[in-house]
Amino acid sequence: MSIVDKISCSHCGAPISFEPGEIIATCKYCGYTIVIETGKAFIFEHSMFFNKYDQTQIEEPIRNWMRKGFLKPPNLAKKSRIIEKNLTYVPFWIVTAEAETTYKGIFDRITPPVIKEGRINKKYNWLVLARKATEFPTKEYDVPLEGKVPYDFRKIEDFAKTLNSEMDKNEAVEHAKQEIEEHHRFLIQQDIDKIIEIKTEIKINQTVYLHSPIWFIKYEYKGKEYQLLIDGATGTVIRGDIPSN
Ligand SMILES: [Zn+2]
Repeated sequence: MSIVDKISCSHCGAPISFEPGEIIATCKYCGYTIVIETGKAFIFEHSMFFNKYDQTQIEEPIRNWMRKGFLKPPNLAKKSRIIEKNLTYVPFWIVTAEAETTYKGIFDRITPPVIKEGRINKKYNWLVLARKATEFPTKEYDVPLEGKVPYDFRKIEDFAKTLNSEMDKNEAVEHAKQEIEEHHRFLIQQDIDKIIEIKTEIKINQTVYLHSPIWFIKYEYKGKEYQLLIDGATGTVIRGDIPSN
């Protein structure tokens, strides 16, 4: 059991509960978002995506996913039983950045090896999960950014759960920068084999705090349990476990 603490919402006075490690919390009665440590309002953009499914409707994208794809057992849709359907609003940071890497290195796939120089310039909406212990396949989640709207607590279903952020804005930005750098290092390896010099400059344009409706589905097939993650805004399966026979 985790210890739950409480503070009062400085907007409506209702109790806001939070768990150890959480840094930013949202009042479920009025949608006010607060920085726990200071008790002050969260001043950055807080957005969300609307969930399009209820607990019955969500079965449609699940069954569709089960029916498609040759890697799946042909009777998967018919023989599996959905045992859990939980909607959770998962917090993310979206860091909009422009990154430029200049590099110099040795290309030794030819003889004699040559020294090459190059530059990568890319723009990103880099996604950072705002939870530390939660497992989430961030790289596989294609965020439907065009559907982003300001956070509206009235759109959060009674049966849904909302997670708070365990990361502040600066930490999220650092995280994004580090991952973008690693990504560029990876890209460079297609052009050179040994790095002599590398320099990456990252300009942060915007950082948005965002709650995404994610369905955590469990299903049972031939006595075993499998998990499915579905984007509630689009119905897309983000990741799904496929039985091996
Ligand atoms: Zn409130």
